[in-house]
Amino acid sequence: MTPKYIFVTGGVTSSLGKGIIAASLAKLLQARGYKVTIQKLDPYINVDPGTLNPYEHGECYVTEDGAETDLDLGHYERFLNHPTSQANNVTTGRIYQHVINREREGAFLGKTVQVIPHITDEIKRRIKLLGETGNYEIVITEIGGTVGDIESLPYIESVRQLLWELKDEDALVIHLTLLPYLSSSNELKTKPTQHSVKLLLESGVQPDILVCRTEHAITKEMRKKIALFCNVDANSVIEALDVPTIYDVPLMMLKEKLDKTVLSKLKLSAKNEPDLESWKNFLTRHKNPKNEIRIGLIGKYVELPDAYKSIIEAFIHAGASNEARVRVQYIHSELIADDNVAQKLGDLDGILVAPGFGDRGIEGKITAIKYAREHNVPFFGICLGMQMAVIEFARNVIGWKDAHSTEMNAKTKHPVIDMMSDQKNITKKGGTMRLGSYVCELSKNSIAYKAYDKSKVNERHRHRYEFNPKFQAEFEANGLHITGINPETKLAEIVELKDHPYFIGVQFHPEYKSTVLNPHPLFVRFLKAAVAFNLSSK
Ligand code: GLN
Repeated sequence: MTPKYIFVTGGVTSSLGKGIIAASLAKLLQARGYKVTIQKLDPYINVDPGTLNPYEHGECYVTEDGAETDLDLGHYERFLNHPTSQANNVTTGRIYQHVINREREGAFLGKTVQVIPHITDEIKRRIKLLGETGNYEIVITEIGGTVGDIESLPYIESVRQLLWELKDEDALVIHLTLLPYLSSSNELKTKPTQHSVKLLLESGVQPDILVCRTEHAITKEMRKKIALFCNVDANSVIEALDVPTIYDVPLMMLKEKLDKTVLSKLKLSAKNEPDLESWKNFLTRHKNPKNEIRIGLIGKYVELPDAYKSIIEAFIHAGASNEARVRVQYIHSELIADDNVAQKLGDLDGILVAPGFGDRGIEGKITAIKYAREHNVPFFGICLGMQMAVIEFARNVIGWKDAHSTEMNAKTKHPVIDMMSDQKNITKKGGTMRLGSYVCELSKNSIAYKAYDKSKVNERHRHRYEFNPKFQAEFEANGLHITGINPETKLAEIVELKDHPYFIGVQFHPEYKSTVLNPHPLFVRFLKAAVAFNLSSK
């Protein structure tokens, strides 16, 4: 079947949730039996978000094939339960880099290289790449930014060209807008929506469907008014009310018949009703918890929870499996010290020490880990969190007071965390870490083995430093066990304490692989331990 293309644009304001609308539509189409994928086009000039501070753009998400991407790809995977790849996230930086490299190679010899056609051709090529794999019947492309932004113009122009090139029934545009509510006059206003559709029209793009974010239900008259002013039919004006959780959005879009409207415009059959049984089961468990637990998320970007998006979502998935409401307490690692740790962490049922880079806040992380170890509080360390657990153990159990990671102290006599040898000569920053999926072999009887219930797993990485094998014997002799290793390189991927209810540190990022239908086993097990801790301390 010729692939169908759906473009999702946004108007009026940013942060309307295009990613969630795109993922929800994809979920509904997938639940009707279609093979769907979603792609995000980001209008910034960074080649990828890997070098961006999380304060700028939230978490950097990592795919199986090692792409450092926008956090929306995490939503796509969590909703669709299907991996994305390098091709699912494209930035202006990547487009220009490709075109400029080709120019230097002489590919355009004699020609003036211009935004139109060279940049737009490259954008169109990237859009069609996923469709041309033959793996998907429908490709949804989310255009980052807001219509009217200077930097989105080449993307909108590329959409215009594709709409012109493709058959009518092979492509459509969904425009997401906001209907602001004026409380003084008690009314929803449609004018910003009209104006943002006009802006799109100025670029030659007529949206087929409008999804209107709103705090209040829209009346029939209002739908008609929006339809009339924006040249769409009234059935194509979709209401998107605020809902308690993003996981409600697919069901809300089903009620609004977004999927049916899309299928009829694309001339695709809508005969099978979507199978959302397991999705609904998840929502029921999520909304009817039997227990409530408090988990401390110790990190240095806690002012911006988007920096830990995948971890927070993994808690929601694993919380539902455990029928537990997870109250995440964000605790700034810089504010934890020996004299306040008991007060800050004393009422937690579990402690997660987050990934990160650089030395800001690491002593607070180490203090938190010592507290978890000594007070039998379930502990889960991810990437930097695992490295800090190794350092804490070296300093406070083995007695190497100067133990450190060479990321923070290059001169320590006990570099228990050290740079991988193949990283030592790398000077460039972008895309040069150990990235993407690697195999990990688990020891029988370990916490990890019990959680996964298998001995070989694949997990995604994003780091430069590793557990230093030189010190492995001393760690083992003192009770910190390596229970997961990479079979090829023998790198330590998991550390665990034996005499503790749940103490595990992982060098990889399990949070990237947690989905609604497949909550991550390590998160499920961690929360199970937290529920047990909570019940035992009552
Ligand atoms: N900074 C550490 C490293 O590069 C950990 C990275 C992380 O937590 N993602 O190895």
